[in-house]
Amino acid sequence: MRYSGLKILKEAFSGHKGWAPVWRNPEPKSNYDFIIIGGGGHGLATAYYLASTFKKAQIAVLEKGWIGGGNVGRNTTIIRSNYLMHENEGFYEFALQLWEKQERDLNYNTMVSQRGIINLYHTDAQRDAFARRGNSMILNGADAVLLDAEGVKSKYPFLNFDNARFPIRGGLWQPRGGTVRHDAVAWGYARAADLRGVDIIQNCEVTGFDIKNGKCLGVQTTKGSIKAKKVGVSVAGSSSRVMAMAGMRLPIETHVLQAFVSEGLKPVIPGVLTYGAGHFYVSQSDKGGLVFGGDIDGYNSYAQRGNLPVVEDVAEGGVSLMPMIGKARLLRMWGGLIDMSMDGSPIIDKTQIDGLYFNGGWCYGGFKATPAAGYCFAQLLATDRPHETAKHFRFDRFERGRMIDEKGQGAQPNLH
Ligand SMILES: Cc1cc2nc3c(=O)[nH]c(=O)nc-3n(C[C@H](O)[C@H](O)[C@H](O)COP(=O)(O)OP(=O)(O)OC[C@H]3O[C@@H](n4cnc5c(N)ncnc54)[C@H](O)[C@@H]3O)c2cc1C
Repeated sequence: MRYSGLKILKEAFSGHKGWAPVWRNPEPKSNYDFIIIGGGGHGLATAYYLASTFKKAQIAVLEKGWIGGGNVGRNTTIIRSNYLMHENEGFYEFALQLWEKQERDLNYNTMVSQRGIINLYHTDAQRDAFARRGNSMILNGADAVLLDAEGVKSKYPFLNFDNARFPIRGGLWQPRGGTVRHDAVAWGYARAADLRGVDIIQNCEVTGFDIKNGKCLGVQTTKGSIKAKKVGVSVAGSSSRVMAMAGMRLPIETHVLQAFVSEGLKPVIPGVLTYGAGHFYVSQSDKGGLVFGGDIDGYNSYAQRGNLPVVEDVAEGGVSLMPMIGKARLLRMWGGLIDMSMDGSPIIDKTQIDGLYFNGGWCYGGFKATPAAGYCFAQLLATDRPHETAKHFRFDRFERGRMIDEKGQGAQPNLH
């Protein structure tokens, strides 16, 4: 079923009886060509691109819970391609270009809103670093504008310019950055993949791999054993647990990241804003809530809930940037599991086990990567060749000393 204005009109006049379920709920078959473990944004996008672009058939996505229950439905919805290092920038720009045509591709309203993102700077050194980053973005085909304090003031007059501990000197603006409705991304990819014959199997946890003589032949699940020619793992915060079942220890550790939503306010924040003197980022949802977040909880955990010190830290960052939000009430908060790699950059690679592939290590930033991660992982699965923009995201970069350390923090996942 195609969605269109005409279809809505037709349904409005016929009692809305003609809407079909958005995806089927099939039982797993005994055998597939491709199994994708993890029904998050990345897993569903991978299945979609495998079926649509690479014309592969017999694909299943196995999800232990429900579609959208992981990080894809828990993040703060920010998309951008404002990276410094060319190994990252080309990839995230590819992602942004896929976001720009996603709604037409999927025939689904994922509410892509390119309302712009500004990273604020507060010192001369930060300004110079942002100028360098902006130049790197432009060289990679992205858009970037360096604003001075007046430039920021014209868009965000209510920020604390005059009386702040860290006065705002300007910002790096990416007009094409913005937000996307996160769970609609999961639903949109699920629907488009299902329409192309992909079996999306919910409540189906993978509990082991069937590996013989260095080759992955399939998986064991709570719904029985399923064979596959190739298995792709895309389980975000559960990466180290799932890959441990295949005997692999990853350069990844899992942390909690929390997100916050205030009560609904009148439109006040036109785009996405990040604070340069602390870790705080904020946008405003279409319903009016301020959606914001900050640092990860600094210890390893697989529990999808965080702790109060980070709540306090995030609130402090927000109020020092925008004192006027001090009176707004916090409506909701929650935590998600993020897979922090040792250099802050992701991995999309084959493993040493034949037929087993891995996509993970997305840290804070895997939502904005979703379309490109799906596309590049699908290409790797379909052709055994990495996509040009993802060819640096390999396991062996740690062994070869070729880290992609965007922040220069070293092997300190809690600092990336
Ligand atoms: C609070 C928060 C805010 C964030 N904000 C942003 C942001 O603004 N911008 C941005 O770019 N990124 C952001 N991120 C990061 C981003 O959400 C993640 O990097 C990205 O969503 C991870 O990919 P995914 O969508 O596939 O993950 P998920 O949705 O977590 O998908 C993985 C799936 O694997 C399933 N799974 C796990 N184990 C098994 C198993 N054994 N068998 C079967 N299934 C299994 C899980 O149930 C889950 O559904 C944020 C993350 C959090 C937590």
